[in-house]
Amino acid sequence: MYAPGDVRVEEREDAKIIEPTDAVIRVSAACICGSDLWLYRGIEALNGPTPMGHEYIGVVEQVGDQVRNVKVGDFVVGSFVASDNTCEICQAGYQSRCIHNVMMGSEGTQAELARIPLADGTLVATPGEPDKDLIPSLLAASDVLGTGWFAAVAAEAGPGKTIAVVGDGAVGLSAVLAAKQLGAERIIAFSRHPERQALAREFGATDIVEERGDAGAAKIKELTGGYGAHGVVEAVGTQESMWQAINSARAGGYVGYVGVTHGVQLDGLNLFFTGVHLHGGPAPVRRFLPELIRLIWDRTIDPGKVFDLTLPLDEAAEGYKAMDERRATKVLLTL
Ligand SMILES: [Zn+2]
Repeated sequence: MYAPGDVRVEEREDAKIIEPTDAVIRVSAACICGSDLWLYRGIEALNGPTPMGHEYIGVVEQVGDQVRNVKVGDFVVGSFVASDNTCEICQAGYQSRCIHNVMMGSEGTQAELARIPLADGTLVATPGEPDKDLIPSLLAASDVLGTGWFAAVAAEAGPGKTIAVVGDGAVGLSAVLAAKQLGAERIIAFSRHPERQALAREFGATDIVEERGDAGAAKIKELTGGYGAHGVVEAVGTQESMWQAINSARAGGYVGYVGVTHGVQLDGLNLFFTGVHLHGGPAPVRRFLPELIRLIWDRTIDPGKVFDLTLPLDEAAEGYKAMDERRATKVLLTL
């Protein structure tokens, strides 16, 4: 990305091994993330031309001398944050905040080749070469599915629970799927888009609410006997969506927040009296990858349905434009 609205596909130097813990993968598919749009729209500052992309699947092409867990030829899925998976933070299940974490956006995976730092702790090999139709779902596991899954876990989704989901983008829809898999009894999706409502229902939503903000939260209270949801996923990251999530939860309930916040300020006294647990941040996708790969491989879940536009990498600029103009929810880039 050269500047807001200016995406170009061009030749760069090949990714190569720098540290002995690195791998280089040949990317099979990448995608454009809602968070890439913050730069595209000029809301986050861009310091000159920068490689883009942090979601990826592909085949290991080279490994550094110290890499043990993956080998050349393995088909791998990795998290959008590289982690050692051995430090105390990783061992506790918070790999995205690993003390040695590397944000994959700094490498740029919307590319033919990508360097993956800390390969042993970051990459998970699939059981073999995947069938073509599994590619979108495996790619989803790299970020949106893992993020939605973490949000549903943080919202304490489980049997007997009512879970509300704020945000009907790829992460919110993935959180609906996750809440269903985790056994939630009732799943309420906030959405105004007919196609996204339909996919939410397919993924397991039992109710759709079109109201937003305070009116949306009031609707959740109304649907839950005045209590509010046991757990709420926040997958947007705005002032309005954050309070919508908090106010949709019952006292003692849980909010799993994974929308990257922009300009959100929470009044302490208002927060104090909600009595709600807040748990979120960049999702530790690596914690869930082995299970997510298994569920996809067994064809138990089909999270790849969140992709509604597929383009060759060469047409990445059109992909950004389509997402910016909301003509697409999530764009898959093929190589
Ligand atoms: Zn770590």
